[in-house]
Amino acid sequence: MKHNNIRPDNGLTQNKSVEATTLNSTSQIISQAYREGRKALLETEAKAICLDYQIPVTSFKLSKNEKEAAQFSEEIGFPVVLKVVSPDIIHKSDVGGVIVNLKNTTEVRNAFRTILENAKKFAAAAEITGILVQEMAPQSIEVIVGAVKDPQFGQTLMFGLGGIFVELLKDVTFRVAPITREDAHEMVTKVKAFPLLDGYRNTPPADLDAIINTLLNTSKLIMDYPEIKELDLNPLMAYEKGAIIVDARIILE
Ligand code: ADP
Ligand code: MG
Repeated sequence: MKHNNIRPDNGLTQNKSVEATTLNSTSQIISQAYREGRKALLETEAKAICLDYQIPVTSFKLSKNEKEAAQFSEEIGFPVVLKVVSPDIIHKSDVGGVIVNLKNTTEVRNAFRTILENAKKFAAAAEITGILVQEMAPQSIEVIVGAVKDPQFGQTLMFGLGGIFVELLKDVTFRVAPITREDAHEMVTKVKAFPLLDGYRNTPPADLDAIINTLLNTSKLIMDYPEIKELDLNPLMAYEKGAIIVDARIILE
């Protein structure tokens, strides 16, 4: 089975040790959030959990000032994206908290200031943890992997295509977790918009294995941690080869 574009398939022995550290670090993040009275994990925390579960995310670094943001953007490589990180802001772009396609340090420094001003304007009381600098993923077809804890069925996975397909047309598939590879394949191929993923006009087909692996790893995550009440990997950028998460949100019970 092909793996995602960031982590190679390492074979059994290594997988076992990865899993051991994995559970440790995810449980640390979750217990720290509870200790601090936070139920919505920060994007940095949600993405660290994704990495623990071999779900690829865009590389990121949390900056505390303009100078750090400029330095981190050079380390990560241009273009970059800047985002507000705050326990009080769940939908970042709603408050002008996301600026994409920054091409040099001047643009990064300006964006840093703009995001802080926007946060002050739209969410005056919000505590700001920092500004996240991250690798900009090339534009592509955006899909969504989600999870909700259904009162009746328990942990449930969701799949759909980004934007209007989910929001307006409700073109999504659900399966109760844990899911098999076959379930995951069905979730992806049974949405009405599937032809868009399957090579439409001049677009090459998306890497279905990469999407399916993300669904399977997410299934494992929510089964391991029943305290996860909601999860949103939105969007997952799907490519001809590989797929990568650019935003992750996890809400605890
Ligand atoms: P929100 O909290 O509003 O959901 P997101 O982190 O999802 O914020 O950012 C909003 C949009 O910006 C995304 O849906 C995506 O289209 C784009 N975006 C965000 N991060 C990246 C990135 N690292 N690379 C490319 N596009 C991005
Ligand atoms: Mg998002």
